[in-house]
Amino acid sequence: MTPLFAALDATGALRFISEVERGAECGCLCPVCGSPLVARQGAAYEWHFAHEASQERPECATAAHSMLRRLMTEHLQARGDAGELLLPPWRQRVAIVGALVNVHEEVQWHARVMGPLQWHPLGAAHEPVAQARLDTGVDLHLFVVVEDAPLPPEADGAQVVFRCSPPPASALRDRHALNLHLEQHGEMAWRHHPDSLGLAAAAQARLEARSAQVYRNWLAVADTAGGAARAGDVEAAPPAPLFYGPGAPATPEVAPRHTCAPDHAPNVSFTFYRLSDTQAWLLYRLDRKGPTDWRSASEKFYALAPHPHPFEGWTQALPETVGVADLSAGVVRCTSFLAAVTYLSRRTVLTRSDRDPAAFEGL
Ligand SMILES: [Zn+2]
Repeated sequence: MTPLFAALDATGALRFISEVERGAECGCLCPVCGSPLVARQGAAYEWHFAHEASQERPECATAAHSMLRRLMTEHLQARGDAGELLLPPWRQRVAIVGALVNVHEEVQWHARVMGPLQWHPLGAAHEPVAQARLDTGVDLHLFVVVEDAPLPPEADGAQVVFRCSPPPASALRDRHALNLHLEQHGEMAWRHHPDSLGLAAAAQARLEARSAQVYRNWLAVADTAGGAARAGDVEAAPPAPLFYGPGAPATPEVAPRHTCAPDHAPNVSFTFYRLSDTQAWLLYRLDRKGPTDWRSASEKFYALAPHPHPFEGWTQALPETVGVADLSAGVVRCTSFLAAVTYLSRRTVLTRSDRDPAAFEGL
């Protein structure tokens, strides 16, 4: 808990502990409850303001924190007035991870403040301290956060957070020391910027084109090696590179489960194939049953689930070379992963991959 290092004088102006007389002579008031304060400037402990007769209220405990936010805001405002409030470039990673591809692009752009910033130095902790229009066509919301404090909720428009580690007592004696600390330890970082220029969408389109090319190449190789007439006969084809699900961020116990994909393994990507208006499938890896750990098992089993739910004739819709319907599980158990990918890739009108099947809703 930061001690109260600044307070309001009789005129409402902000005074640091080193700028006032010692003890009750300081003439300062608590910024939260308005009670008179005493300036403690002993040598043995950190300088700070205290309530007279130690009448601290619980709500006054947050006074130092709101004071710090107000001073951080004033620091930014001074930088803005001097034309030195520069925003870092926005960076975004766009990626496609599917059965046969793992491609990504880094996208970045610069956004500049147009016109004056509207400052709100006395706002609540979850409110922006400044707002402005950006030359990227969206509204900027600027927040200040002292490290470890929770971030404001996500909202529309662009969000930038000015974050700083809690200043040591030596940086809280006067405004100059605090500004120096904020300059050295404060960090401006993007939280969100909408794709208002369409640059992320363009990168996504480029990746999808590359991904489609990878699938076409794979099918050409499979055709040459296996013969195009016999769908699913890809045993003679060279092994394809497999990127089926990136590394596991969640432990299997807490990984989300999806009822539309019975018995799916935790942390896998799902590939969606729409073959016609009435027929769509989810391809995914099955969880291991029994003592074998699916993560280290050499043999992996895959299933195709009719999506979003079983459709008329789903048990007969795929040839036996692709898989055999398991009525009790409600899925087609794949004979081989590559046979399924080859068969579906050749007939699909729309393919998507995602870790959450909800992304395929309405496709
Ligand atoms: Zn108070």
